[in-house]
Amino acid sequence: MTTTAPITQDVLTIPRKAPEGQKPNMIGMTRAQLRAALIAHGTPEKQAKMREGQIWQWLYHWGVRDFAVMTNLSKDYRAMLAENFAIRLPEIVTHQISADGTRKYLLRIDGGHEVETVYIPEEGRGTLCISSQVGCTLTCSFCHTGTQKLVRNLTPAEIVGQIMIARDDLQEWSIPGEARREDRLISNVVLMGMGEPLYNFDNVRDAMRIVMDNEGISLSRRRITLSTSGVVPEIARTADEIGCLLAISFHATTDKVRDQLVPINKKWNLEALLAALRDYPRLTNSERITFEYVMLKGINDTDEDARRLIKLIKGIPAKINLIPFNEWPGAPYQRSDWARIEAFSEIIFNAGYASPIRKPRGEDIMAACGQLKSATERGRKSSRQIAAEASGG
Ligand code: SAH
Ligand code: SF4
Repeated sequence: MTTTAPITQDVLTIPRKAPEGQKPNMIGMTRAQLRAALIAHGTPEKQAKMREGQIWQWLYHWGVRDFAVMTNLSKDYRAMLAENFAIRLPEIVTHQISADGTRKYLLRIDGGHEVETVYIPEEGRGTLCISSQVGCTLTCSFCHTGTQKLVRNLTPAEIVGQIMIARDDLQEWSIPGEARREDRLISNVVLMGMGEPLYNFDNVRDAMRIVMDNEGISLSRRRITLSTSGVVPEIARTADEIGCLLAISFHATTDKVRDQLVPINKKWNLEALLAALRDYPRLTNSERITFEYVMLKGINDTDEDARRLIKLIKGIPAKINLIPFNEWPGAPYQRSDWARIEAFSEIIFNAGYASPIRKPRGEDIMAACGQLKSATERGRKSSRQIAAEASGG
Protein backbone atom coordinates (compact mmCIF):
# COMPACT_ATOMS: atom_id res chain seq x y z
CA MET A 1 0.00 0.00 0.00
CA THR A 2 2.78 2.44 -0.78
CA THR A 3 2.06 3.36 -4.37
CA THR A 4 -0.17 6.32 -5.01
CA ALA A 5 -2.81 5.44 -7.52
CA PRO A 6 -3.90 8.20 -9.89
CA ILE A 7 -7.41 9.54 -9.41
CA THR A 8 -8.34 8.71 -12.97
CA GLN A 9 -6.77 6.05 -15.10
CA ASP A 10 -5.22 6.57 -18.49
CA VAL A 11 -8.38 5.87 -20.39
CA LEU A 12 -9.62 6.34 -23.88
CA THR A 13 -12.82 8.34 -23.56
CA ILE A 14 -14.93 7.65 -26.58
CA PRO A 15 -17.61 10.06 -27.69
CA ARG A 16 -20.99 8.57 -28.40
CA LYS A 17 -21.41 7.84 -32.06
CA ALA A 18 -24.91 7.32 -33.34
CA PRO A 19 -24.83 5.27 -36.54
CA GLU A 20 -25.16 7.50 -39.59
CA GLY A 21 -28.63 8.29 -40.82
CA GLN A 22 -30.40 6.96 -37.76
CA LYS A 23 -33.71 8.53 -36.90
CA PRO A 24 -33.83 10.33 -33.54
CA ASN A 25 -34.71 7.94 -30.73
CA MET A 26 -37.81 8.84 -28.75
CA ILE A 27 -36.64 6.81 -25.80
CA GLY A 28 -34.62 8.99 -23.48
CA MET A 29 -36.07 12.32 -24.58
CA THR A 30 -37.28 14.49 -21.73
CA ARG A 31 -40.90 15.58 -21.97
CA ALA A 32 -39.78 19.02 -23.14
CA GLN A 33 -37.51 17.52 -25.80
CA LEU A 34 -40.25 15.22 -27.01
CA ARG A 35 -42.72 18.06 -27.30
CA ALA A 36 -40.24 20.26 -29.13
CA ALA A 37 -39.50 17.41 -31.55
CA LEU A 38 -43.19 16.90 -32.26
CA ILE A 39 -43.65 20.61 -32.92
CA ALA A 40 -40.63 20.62 -35.19
CA HIS A 41 -42.36 17.91 -37.25
CA GLY A 42 -45.53 19.88 -37.72
CA THR A 43 -47.61 19.15 -34.63
CA PRO A 44 -49.61 22.32 -33.86
CA GLU A 45 -48.40 23.88 -30.62
CA LYS A 46 -51.86 23.65 -29.11
CA GLN A 47 -51.94 19.89 -29.57
CA ALA A 48 -48.36 19.18 -28.70
CA LYS A 49 -48.83 18.72 -24.98
CA MET A 50 -51.61 16.22 -25.48
CA ARG A 51 -49.64 14.25 -28.10
CA GLU A 52 -46.60 14.24 -25.85
CA GLY A 53 -48.70 12.77 -23.02
CA GLN A 54 -50.23 10.11 -25.26
CA ILE A 55 -46.91 8.98 -26.67
CA TRP A 56 -45.31 9.06 -23.22
CA GLN A 57 -47.91 6.64 -21.88
CA TRP A 58 -47.46 4.27 -24.80
CA LEU A 59 -43.73 4.20 -24.32
CA TYR A 60 -43.40 4.15 -20.56
CA HIS A 61 -46.70 2.88 -19.20
CA TRP A 62 -47.56 0.21 -21.79
CA GLY A 63 -44.04 -0.49 -22.97
CA VAL A 64 -45.02 -0.28 -26.62
CA ARG A 65 -42.26 -0.30 -29.30
CA ASP A 66 -44.25 0.30 -32.45
CA PHE A 67 -45.94 3.54 -33.47
CA ALA A 68 -48.55 1.55 -35.38
CA VAL A 69 -50.22 0.31 -32.18
CA MET A 70 -50.63 3.81 -30.70
CA THR A 71 -54.31 3.68 -31.56
CA ASN A 72 -55.42 6.92 -29.95
CA LEU A 73 -53.40 8.77 -32.60
CA SER A 74 -54.65 9.14 -36.14
CA LYS A 75 -53.25 6.88 -38.83
CA ASP A 76 -51.55 9.78 -40.56
CA TYR A 77 -49.99 10.97 -37.35
CA ARG A 78 -48.63 7.49 -36.59
CA ALA A 79 -47.17 7.34 -40.08
CA MET A 80 -45.51 10.73 -39.51
CA LEU A 81 -43.99 9.45 -36.27
CA ALA A 82 -42.70 6.25 -37.85
CA GLU A 83 -41.16 8.22 -40.67
CA ASN A 84 -39.28 10.61 -38.42
CA PHE A 85 -38.54 8.82 -35.16
CA ALA A 86 -37.34 5.50 -33.80
CA ILE A 87 -38.05 3.62 -30.56
CA ARG A 88 -34.70 2.04 -29.84
CA LEU A 89 -33.28 0.10 -26.89
CA PRO A 90 -29.89 -1.47 -26.30
CA GLU A 91 -29.55 -4.94 -27.76
CA ILE A 92 -29.35 -7.99 -25.47
CA VAL A 93 -26.12 -9.92 -26.09
CA THR A 94 -26.42 -12.50 -23.32
CA HIS A 95 -28.86 -13.12 -20.54
CA GLN A 96 -27.70 -15.27 -17.64
CA ILE A 97 -29.63 -16.54 -14.65
CA SER A 98 -27.70 -17.43 -11.50
CA ALA A 99 -28.47 -20.39 -9.27
CA ASP A 100 -29.84 -17.88 -6.74
CA GLY A 101 -32.22 -16.27 -9.25
CA THR A 102 -30.07 -13.21 -9.97
CA ARG A 103 -30.29 -12.23 -13.63
CA LYS A 104 -27.52 -10.54 -15.55
CA TYR A 105 -28.02 -8.86 -18.90
CA LEU A 106 -25.10 -8.01 -21.12
CA LEU A 107 -26.25 -5.23 -23.43
CA ARG A 108 -24.73 -3.81 -26.57
CA ILE A 109 -25.08 -0.10 -27.23
CA ASP A 110 -24.21 2.15 -30.17
CA GLY A 111 -20.58 1.91 -31.12
CA GLY A 112 -20.51 -1.79 -30.18
CA HIS A 113 -19.76 -1.14 -26.50
CA GLU A 114 -21.21 -3.28 -23.76
CA VAL A 115 -22.70 -2.69 -20.34
CA GLU A 116 -24.16 -4.93 -17.69
CA THR A 117 -27.42 -4.74 -15.77
CA VAL A 118 -28.28 -7.04 -12.86
CA TYR A 119 -31.67 -7.97 -11.41
CA ILE A 120 -31.64 -9.21 -7.81
CA PRO A 121 -34.87 -10.78 -6.53
CA GLU A 122 -35.34 -10.80 -2.77
CA GLU A 123 -38.15 -11.58 -0.37
CA GLY A 124 -40.79 -8.91 -0.98
CA ARG A 125 -38.69 -6.79 -3.29
CA GLY A 126 -36.60 -6.81 -6.43
CA THR A 127 -33.67 -4.54 -7.13
CA LEU A 128 -32.35 -3.63 -10.54
CA CYS A 129 -28.72 -2.56 -10.55
CA ILE A 130 -28.02 -0.37 -13.57
CA SER A 131 -24.88 1.08 -15.14
CA SER A 132 -24.25 4.73 -15.91
CA GLN A 133 -21.05 4.50 -17.97
CA VAL A 134 -19.12 2.01 -20.06
CA GLY A 135 -16.22 1.41 -17.67
CA CYS A 136 -15.25 4.12 -15.20
CA THR A 137 -12.58 6.81 -15.30
CA LEU A 138 -11.90 6.37 -11.59
CA THR A 139 -9.49 3.81 -10.26
CA CYS A 140 -10.74 2.41 -6.98
CA SER A 141 -8.15 -0.27 -6.35
CA PHE A 142 -10.61 -3.02 -5.36
CA CYS A 143 -13.01 -2.53 -8.27
CA HIS A 144 -12.96 -4.53 -11.47
CA THR A 145 -14.83 -1.90 -13.48
CA GLY A 146 -12.08 0.61 -12.65
CA THR A 147 -9.56 -1.43 -14.66
CA GLN A 148 -11.50 -1.14 -17.89
CA LYS A 149 -9.72 1.05 -20.38
CA LEU A 150 -12.59 2.28 -22.50
CA VAL A 151 -15.00 4.77 -21.07
CA ARG A 152 -18.08 6.38 -22.49
CA ASN A 153 -21.04 8.02 -20.82
CA LEU A 154 -24.35 6.29 -21.34
CA THR A 155 -27.13 8.34 -22.90
CA PRO A 156 -30.47 8.78 -21.13
CA ALA A 157 -31.93 6.24 -23.60
CA GLU A 158 -29.30 3.69 -22.63
CA ILE A 159 -29.89 4.23 -18.93
CA VAL A 160 -33.70 4.10 -19.13
CA GLY A 161 -33.33 1.30 -21.69
CA GLN A 162 -31.75 -0.98 -19.08
CA ILE A 163 -34.89 -0.72 -16.96
CA MET A 164 -37.15 -1.21 -19.97
CA ILE A 165 -35.30 -4.34 -21.03
CA ALA A 166 -35.56 -5.83 -17.54
CA ARG A 167 -39.28 -4.99 -17.51
CA ASP A 168 -39.65 -6.81 -20.83
CA ASP A 169 -37.89 -9.86 -19.45
CA LEU A 170 -39.91 -9.87 -16.23
CA GLN A 171 -43.13 -9.10 -18.14
CA GLU A 172 -43.81 -6.14 -15.96
CA TRP A 173 -45.54 -3.74 -18.34
CA SER A 174 -49.16 -2.89 -17.69
CA ILE A 175 -51.65 -4.83 -19.76
CA PRO A 176 -54.66 -2.96 -21.15
CA GLY A 177 -57.82 -3.96 -19.31
CA GLU A 178 -55.97 -5.32 -16.30
CA ALA A 179 -55.70 -3.48 -12.99
CA ARG A 180 -52.41 -1.77 -12.25
CA ARG A 181 -50.14 -4.28 -10.51
CA GLU A 182 -49.06 -3.32 -7.05
CA ASP A 183 -46.52 -6.11 -6.52
CA ARG A 184 -43.72 -4.71 -8.57
CA LEU A 185 -40.94 -7.11 -9.51
CA ILE A 186 -38.59 -4.20 -10.03
CA SER A 187 -39.46 -2.35 -6.84
CA ASN A 188 -36.09 -0.61 -6.51
CA VAL A 189 -33.42 0.72 -8.82
CA VAL A 190 -29.84 1.24 -7.72
CA LEU A 191 -27.20 3.10 -9.73
CA MET A 192 -24.50 0.71 -8.58
CA GLY A 193 -23.45 -0.96 -11.80
CA MET A 194 -20.59 0.15 -14.00
CA GLY A 195 -19.50 3.76 -13.86
CA GLU A 196 -19.59 6.80 -11.65
CA PRO A 197 -23.10 8.28 -12.06
CA LEU A 198 -22.06 11.75 -10.89
CA TYR A 199 -19.54 11.97 -13.72
CA ASN A 200 -22.48 11.58 -16.10
CA PHE A 201 -24.79 13.82 -14.16
CA ASP A 202 -27.09 15.33 -16.80
CA ASN A 203 -27.86 12.03 -18.53
CA VAL A 204 -28.44 10.23 -15.22
CA ARG A 205 -30.74 13.02 -14.07
CA ASP A 206 -32.78 13.06 -17.29
CA ALA A 207 -33.06 9.26 -17.21
CA MET A 208 -34.19 9.18 -13.59
CA ARG A 209 -36.78 11.86 -14.26
CA ILE A 210 -38.23 9.64 -16.98
CA VAL A 211 -38.25 6.66 -14.63
CA MET A 212 -39.91 8.65 -11.83
CA ASP A 213 -42.57 10.23 -14.06
CA ASN A 214 -46.04 9.35 -12.76
CA GLU A 215 -47.50 8.66 -16.17
CA GLY A 216 -44.89 6.07 -17.00
CA ILE A 217 -42.67 3.69 -15.12
CA SER A 218 -43.57 5.72 -12.07
CA LEU A 219 -40.90 4.63 -9.65
CA SER A 220 -40.79 6.77 -6.51
CA ARG A 221 -37.65 8.80 -5.86
CA ARG A 222 -37.37 6.93 -2.58
CA ARG A 223 -36.94 3.68 -4.44
CA ILE A 224 -33.96 4.90 -6.44
CA THR A 225 -30.53 4.88 -4.85
CA LEU A 226 -27.59 6.58 -6.50
CA SER A 227 -24.18 5.37 -5.38
CA THR A 228 -21.19 7.66 -5.71
CA SER A 229 -17.54 7.37 -4.83
CA GLY A 230 -17.76 10.96 -3.56
CA VAL A 231 -17.96 13.56 -6.33
CA VAL A 232 -18.60 16.24 -3.74
CA PRO A 233 -19.73 19.18 -5.92
CA GLU A 234 -22.46 17.05 -7.51
CA ILE A 235 -23.96 15.78 -4.25
CA ALA A 236 -26.05 18.90 -3.57
CA ARG A 237 -27.13 18.88 -7.22
CA THR A 238 -28.29 15.29 -6.82
CA ALA A 239 -30.47 16.38 -3.93
CA ASP A 240 -31.81 19.32 -5.86
CA GLU A 241 -32.29 17.91 -9.34
CA ILE A 242 -33.01 14.20 -8.72
CA GLY A 243 -33.97 13.89 -5.05
CA CYS A 244 -33.32 10.16 -4.88
CA LEU A 245 -31.66 8.30 -2.03
CA LEU A 246 -27.91 8.46 -1.76
CA ALA A 247 -25.33 5.77 -1.13
CA ILE A 248 -21.73 6.62 -0.64
CA SER A 249 -18.77 4.35 -1.29
CA PHE A 250 -17.06 5.16 1.97
CA HIS A 251 -14.79 2.16 2.49
CA ALA A 252 -12.22 3.69 4.84
CA THR A 253 -12.00 5.76 8.01
CA THR A 254 -8.75 7.65 7.46
CA ASP A 255 -7.70 9.77 4.51
CA LYS A 256 -4.54 7.70 4.21
CA VAL A 257 -6.41 4.46 3.57
CA ARG A 258 -9.19 6.08 1.56
CA ASP A 259 -6.65 7.74 -0.73
CA GLN A 260 -5.50 4.23 -1.61
CA LEU A 261 -8.88 2.58 -1.98
CA VAL A 262 -10.95 5.40 -3.46
CA PRO A 263 -8.42 7.77 -5.07
CA ILE A 264 -10.99 10.51 -5.67
CA ASN A 265 -10.48 11.07 -1.91
CA LYS A 266 -7.30 12.93 -2.86
CA LYS A 267 -9.49 15.52 -4.54
CA TRP A 268 -12.30 15.60 -1.97
CA ASN A 269 -11.22 14.16 1.34
CA LEU A 270 -13.27 12.74 4.19
CA GLU A 271 -13.90 16.13 5.72
CA ALA A 272 -15.21 17.64 2.47
CA LEU A 273 -17.26 14.54 1.77
CA LEU A 274 -18.84 14.39 5.22
CA ALA A 275 -19.77 18.07 5.02
CA ALA A 276 -21.66 17.45 1.77
CA LEU A 277 -23.34 14.39 3.25
CA ARG A 278 -24.53 16.22 6.33
CA ASP A 279 -26.68 18.48 4.17
CA TYR A 280 -28.17 15.74 2.01
CA PRO A 281 -31.00 14.37 4.18
CA ARG A 282 -32.31 17.86 4.87
CA LEU A 283 -32.13 18.86 1.21
CA THR A 284 -34.10 15.82 0.08
CA ASN A 285 -36.28 15.53 3.16
CA SER A 286 -35.43 11.85 3.10
CA GLU A 287 -34.33 9.20 5.51
CA ARG A 288 -30.89 7.75 5.75
CA ILE A 289 -27.77 7.82 3.69
CA THR A 290 -26.33 4.39 2.96
CA PHE A 291 -22.63 4.10 3.71
CA GLU A 292 -21.14 1.29 1.64
CA TYR A 293 -18.12 -0.30 3.18
CA VAL A 294 -16.23 -3.06 1.40
CA MET A 295 -14.58 -5.48 3.83
CA LEU A 296 -10.95 -5.98 2.86
CA LYS A 297 -8.85 -8.32 4.94
CA GLY A 298 -6.21 -6.47 6.95
CA ILE A 299 -6.88 -3.17 5.18
CA ASN A 300 -9.94 -1.48 6.66
CA ASP A 301 -11.60 -4.07 8.90
CA THR A 302 -10.38 -3.59 12.48
CA ASP A 303 -12.49 -2.78 15.54
CA GLU A 304 -10.75 0.57 15.59
CA ASP A 305 -11.96 1.24 12.05
CA ALA A 306 -15.51 0.45 13.13
CA ARG A 307 -15.27 2.86 16.06
CA ARG A 308 -13.72 5.59 13.91
CA LEU A 309 -16.51 5.15 11.39
CA ILE A 310 -19.13 5.74 14.08
CA LYS A 311 -17.36 8.91 15.18
CA LEU A 312 -17.06 10.25 11.65
CA ILE A 313 -20.70 9.84 10.73
CA LYS A 314 -22.06 11.11 14.03
CA GLY A 315 -25.18 13.18 13.41
CA ILE A 316 -25.86 11.82 9.92
CA PRO A 317 -28.93 9.58 9.63
CA ALA A 318 -27.21 6.50 8.25
CA LYS A 319 -27.26 2.84 7.52
CA ILE A 320 -23.97 1.03 7.03
CA ASN A 321 -23.97 -1.58 4.33
CA LEU A 322 -21.04 -3.94 4.77
CA ILE A 323 -19.99 -5.53 1.49
CA PRO A 324 -17.82 -8.65 1.70
CA PHE A 325 -15.19 -8.06 -0.99
CA ASN A 326 -15.98 -9.89 -4.22
CA GLU A 327 -12.91 -11.26 -5.85
CA TRP A 328 -12.09 -10.93 -9.50
CA PRO A 329 -9.15 -12.30 -11.50
CA GLY A 330 -5.98 -10.49 -10.42
CA ALA A 331 -7.61 -8.56 -7.57
CA PRO A 332 -5.03 -7.27 -5.07
CA TYR A 333 -7.22 -7.88 -1.98
CA GLN A 334 -8.94 -10.63 -0.07
CA ARG A 335 -12.31 -10.73 1.60
CA SER A 336 -12.24 -10.24 5.38
CA ASP A 337 -12.98 -13.37 7.38
CA TRP A 338 -16.61 -13.89 8.21
CA ALA A 339 -16.04 -13.56 11.98
CA ARG A 340 -14.27 -10.25 11.39
CA ILE A 341 -17.13 -8.91 9.29
CA GLU A 342 -19.61 -9.93 11.99
CA ALA A 343 -17.57 -8.33 14.77
CA PHE A 344 -17.32 -5.11 12.74
CA SER A 345 -21.04 -5.16 12.10
CA GLU A 346 -21.79 -5.70 15.77
CA ILE A 347 -19.83 -2.64 16.90
CA ILE A 348 -21.74 -0.46 14.45
CA PHE A 349 -25.06 -2.02 15.36
CA ASN A 350 -24.43 -1.42 19.06
CA ALA A 351 -23.84 2.25 18.28
CA GLY A 352 -27.41 2.42 17.00
CA TYR A 353 -26.99 2.00 13.24
CA ALA A 354 -28.37 -0.70 11.00
CA SER A 355 -25.33 -2.58 9.73
CA PRO A 356 -26.49 -5.28 7.33
CA ILE A 357 -23.91 -7.48 5.65
CA ARG A 358 -24.68 -7.57 1.95
CA LYS A 359 -25.12 -11.11 0.80
CA PRO A 360 -23.09 -11.68 -2.35
CA ARG A 361 -25.53 -12.45 -5.16
CA GLY A 362 -24.97 -13.94 -8.56
CA GLU A 363 -21.31 -14.73 -7.97
CA ASP A 364 -21.48 -17.75 -10.28
CA ILE A 365 -22.26 -15.42 -13.20
CA MET A 366 -19.87 -12.62 -12.10
CA ALA A 367 -22.82 -10.39 -11.29
CA ALA A 368 -21.79 -9.39 -7.75
CA CYS A 369 -20.78 -5.84 -6.76
CA GLY A 370 -17.58 -4.74 -8.38
CA GLN A 371 -17.37 -7.75 -10.70
CA LEU A 372 -19.03 -6.08 -13.64
CA LYS A 373 -16.96 -5.59 -16.68
CA SER A 374 -17.91 -6.15 -20.26
CA ALA A 375 -17.12 -9.52 -21.75
CA THR A 376 -15.12 -7.99 -24.58
CA GLU A 377 -12.89 -6.23 -22.08
CA ARG A 378 -12.55 -9.43 -20.11
CA GLY A 379 -11.55 -11.24 -23.28
CA ARG A 380 -9.02 -8.58 -24.11
CA LYS A 381 -7.53 -8.67 -20.66
CA SER A 382 -7.19 -12.45 -20.54
CA SER A 383 -5.56 -12.64 -23.96
CA ARG A 384 -3.08 -10.06 -22.73
CA GLN A 385 -2.48 -12.13 -19.64
CA ILE A 386 -2.04 -15.24 -21.75
CA ALA A 387 0.50 -13.43 -23.93
CA ALA A 388 2.35 -12.25 -20.83
CA GLU A 389 2.40 -15.76 -19.41
CA ALA A 390 3.57 -17.23 -22.70
CA SER A 391 6.51 -14.85 -22.77
CA GLY A 392 7.32 -15.67 -19.15
CA GLY A 393 6.16 -12.22 -17.94
N1 SAH B 1 -19.16 4.23 -9.06
C1 SAH B 1 -20.15 4.19 -8.04
C2 SAH B 1 -21.22 3.14 -8.25
C3 SAH B 1 -20.78 1.76 -8.71
S1 SAH B 1 -19.96 0.70 -7.61
C4 SAH B 1 -19.50 4.02 -6.69
O1 SAH B 1 -18.33 3.74 -6.64
O2 SAH B 1 -20.19 4.21 -5.70
C5 SAH B 1 -21.15 0.01 -6.50
C6 SAH B 1 -20.53 -0.43 -5.17
O3 SAH B 1 -19.76 -1.65 -5.29
C7 SAH B 1 -19.58 0.62 -4.63
O4 SAH B 1 -19.78 0.82 -3.26
C8 SAH B 1 -18.25 -0.02 -4.89
O5 SAH B 1 -17.28 0.55 -4.07
C9 SAH B 1 -18.53 -1.46 -4.62
N2 SAH B 1 -17.52 -2.39 -5.14
C10 SAH B 1 -16.68 -2.19 -6.19
N3 SAH B 1 -15.87 -3.27 -6.35
C11 SAH B 1 -16.21 -4.17 -5.40
C12 SAH B 1 -15.76 -5.48 -5.08
N4 SAH B 1 -14.81 -6.07 -5.79
N5 SAH B 1 -16.34 -6.13 -4.03
C13 SAH B 1 -17.35 -5.53 -3.36
N6 SAH B 1 -17.81 -4.30 -3.61
C14 SAH B 1 -17.26 -3.61 -4.63
FE1 SF4 C 1 -15.64 3.59 -10.55
FE2 SF4 C 1 -17.28 3.03 -8.49
FE3 SF4 C 1 -15.53 1.19 -9.40
FE4 SF4 C 1 -14.63 3.34 -8.10
S1 SF4 C 1 -15.95 1.69 -7.26
S2 SF4 C 1 -13.77 2.50 -10.00
S3 SF4 C 1 -16.05 4.92 -8.80
S4 SF4 C 1 -17.27 2.04 -10.52
